[in-house]
Amino acid sequence: MFKKILIANRGEIACRVIETARRMGIATVAVYSDADRNARHVEMADEAVHIGPSPAAESYLLSERILQAVRETGAEAVHPGYGFLSENRLFAEALAAAGVAFIGPSPRAIECMGDKIASKELAAKAGVSTVPGHMGLIADAEQAVQISREIGYPVMIKASAGGGGKGMRIAWSDSEAREGFQSSKNEAASSFGDDRIFIEKFITQPRHIEIQVLGDSHGNLIYLNERECSIQRRNQKVIEEAPSPFMDASTRAAMGAQAVALAAAVEYQSAGTVEFIVDAARNFYFLEMNTRLQVEHPVTELITGIDLVEQMIRVAAGERLTLAQQDVPLNGWAIESRLYAEDPTRNFLPSTGRLTRYRPPERALGEAVLRNDTGVFEGGEISMFYDPMIAKLCTWAPDRALAIRAMRDALDEFEVEGIGHNIPFLSAVMDHPKFVAGEVTTAFIDEEYPNGFCGATLDTATLRRLAAAAAAMYRVQEIRDARISGRMDNHEREVGSDWVISLGGQDIGVTIDADRAGATVRFEDGETHRVASDWVPGVSLAVMDVDGQRLVIKVERTPYGYRMRHRGADLKVRVQTPRKFALSKWMIEKTPPDTSKYLLCPMPGLVVSLAVAEGDTVEEGQALCTVEAMKMENVLRAEKRGVVARINAEVGASLAVDDVIMEFA
Ligand code: ADP
Ligand code: ADP
Ligand code: MG
Repeated sequence: MFKKILIANRGEIACRVIETARRMGIATVAVYSDADRNARHVEMADEAVHIGPSPAAESYLLSERILQAVRETGAEAVHPGYGFLSENRLFAEALAAAGVAFIGPSPRAIECMGDKIASKELAAKAGVSTVPGHMGLIADAEQAVQISREIGYPVMIKASAGGGGKGMRIAWSDSEAREGFQSSKNEAASSFGDDRIFIEKFITQPRHIEIQVLGDSHGNLIYLNERECSIQRRNQKVIEEAPSPFMDASTRAAMGAQAVALAAAVEYQSAGTVEFIVDAARNFYFLEMNTRLQVEHPVTELITGIDLVEQMIRVAAGERLTLAQQDVPLNGWAIESRLYAEDPTRNFLPSTGRLTRYRPPERALGEAVLRNDTGVFEGGEISMFYDPMIAKLCTWAPDRALAIRAMRDALDEFEVEGIGHNIPFLSAVMDHPKFVAGEVTTAFIDEEYPNGFCGATLDTATLRRLAAAAAAMYRVQEIRDARISGRMDNHEREVGSDWVISLGGQDIGVTIDADRAGATVRFEDGETHRVASDWVPGVSLAVMDVDGQRLVIKVERTPYGYRMRHRGADLKVRVQTPRKFALSKWMIEKTPPDTSKYLLCPMPGLVVSLAVAEGDTVEEGQALCTVEAMKMENVLRAEKRGVVARINAEVGASLAVDDVIMEFA
């Protein structure tokens, strides 16, 4: 076995490979660019080598720099991860020439499968069913139209060198074929430096289902079941699961056999994935083979108990597979949600910035298992240079419904602040009836969110549970506030018990009755809820027990009540006394004053420290000052970029709610 390996990648995948290597007693070498100087993978590895400036083309994609790092550190093998050099034949050959093992397939397998046209021809020869279409290159737009007519619309126009969802267009008519040909060609030329185009039938109501294969250098090849990856935006996967809810045993066996036949045709060794497109009648067609570890490999690991990275390392060291096809387990259900720094309300545009808060959930409830693969840490940055993935959150459970439930809970608990992210969207999908029923196609996102995603709407029962939780929280808050302002010993008496809670367009009058174990919240229509929790003001994640059921809410105090985030919804919750509520009905709705130019004190407290000075330019999420309340230090941060014009509070000052701490220009 190798004593030391180098990981030619970054982010979560580099961290994930390091973890397995460490467990196997193998020393690890990380490589890093300028932007990754303080990255998690660098921290985790035994050694790290700086390989160049931040742009990937000047660091992670430079095979010569990686080879130099291998020589400097004496690594015996290289794991390429995915993306970057993982499917680069020349890199694999250069390593071989240097006597270093490539933890992946042979250069020949990479070459054969790297090209979509060539691999499709090879698949057809190996008896694998391929998407009907034209097996050759398309010369110009007129030929594209002619071929498209022969195949029959709709068609898919694709770049032979394509990857990552790029260089691909659907055409439903002659004019779309003409335009699609040109735009695919342009995109392919600029993304891959190779503008060869081909055309195949567009499979309607398609599902993307792929087979994980694993081979060794002794001719053994097995498949490790399938993954369903139909939830995609821009032809890129967002949610994956294993097994597929659409699969039956005979289709699985047939797809598995074809995947193995294709892999055998190129004497495939290491882990690889054969992607298929499957139509509504369960006809399946070969799409492409990815000759590397796939982003979504954890779901396969969770249902088989097989560590794919360990297998890749063993195979690269010449070991034989110890597993035969009939020994491959398929146990339970696993789901992966890719957390991206992207804005689902603005067409999934990537966002960048600092993770002012990054708190993944710690564990799943009951039998469920949680796995979170990540390359980031709180305070770290998602830069513009690389993929904006924050983490891959996976849940496993004995069946699909339980795995979905565990994922909903995990997403509710996952705290990410400081940058835009897609957690609300992922939550909404987990609650979507079609997803829950397993009825998904690759058009799911486009069809179900045609105008984009603008937050989930919660059902009335959930809103009412949230209202009960808000009442209980408000009571705790009031008691705290009374205590801090130093009124009375018997503060509980000063706190009211009747409020009107407004949220999601509903106004609910409540009466709260508290005892040692919790509170009973009575609605004016007679409905009652029992709420228990150990939430205290200032804690951003409220784990409540409402009527014996867990309710996890991301909560922030606002001047009128709370901002509550739950299951993809972002709610303004208003808490008022009945008198105020009655009066407010007669008041003209006034637009709230623009307080964004001020940093207001959110709770009564003591200024512990100031992190900025007048004249400083501050970035969104940057710490401005620390206020202590009830022995808890709360760091107040800039809501947006700005310049500090004036500071009104000094260290040691005690402040009331909404006192102006500083003003921005
Ligand atoms: P998966 O099927 O594992 O999701 P993708 O095809 O979406 O794989 O790509 C996985 C990773 O590899 C992504 O980070 C993607 O950006 C990167 N990638 C894929 N193809 C290319 C390519 N031709 N050039 C550069 N990066 C690529
Ligand atoms: P990439 O190399 O970018 O991953 P793929 O060939 O794997 O390219 O296609 C990516 C996605 O595009 C698939 O997952 C599928 O959703 C869609 N797709 C590709 N080809 C077809 C087709 N012929 N019919 C329908 N959808 C397709
Ligand atoms: Mg693909």
